[in-house]
Amino acid sequence: MNPSSHRDSEPVVPAATSNEMKLTISHDIYISIAAHCESDLPNEACGLLISSRSSLAVERFIPIPNRHPQPRHSFSFDPMAWTSAIYELDRLGQKVIGYYHSHPSTPAIPSVYDAAGLPGSGSALMLILSFASPIPEARAYQLTRGAYPDTILSEINLIID
Ligand SMILES: [Zn+2]
Repeated sequence: MNPSSHRDSEPVVPAATSNEMKLTISHDIYISIAAHCESDLPNEACGLLISSRSSLAVERFIPIPNRHPQPRHSFSFDPMAWTSAIYELDRLGQKVIGYYHSHPSTPAIPSVYDAAGLPGSGSALMLILSFASPIPEARAYQLTRGAYPDTILSEINLIID
């Protein structure tokens, strides 16, 4: 198998955890996101985390089809679905506060290629759900973009309540 297709098997060690930042998700929304990811196994699933305020509390999520040619190991947002989601959010006064994607068989640790799969250019949060164990594990990261490959993903607190 082509080693370049094993993108999420090349984890980046996250920088020191920021104690100030936390991403909050209700239990119901988290379960729904996990269900979306599980339904797309063995491929990676991806989508948007939405809030209408400037807080880092997820109010809803939008699944986006993964169009990456190697969907078992990487993700890439479907451009049409991404564009229509942005128009919808604009109309509703909501915004993307982050992204989520799954790791079907590796830990919830970002790979060096994870940032490359994301649209836009600003900083964002990233939720990763791992299905490497029978019980899914989730971790949240802050994505700070720099010139490739200097994008930094620092782990932040994830609150599921
Ligand atoms: Zn990943």
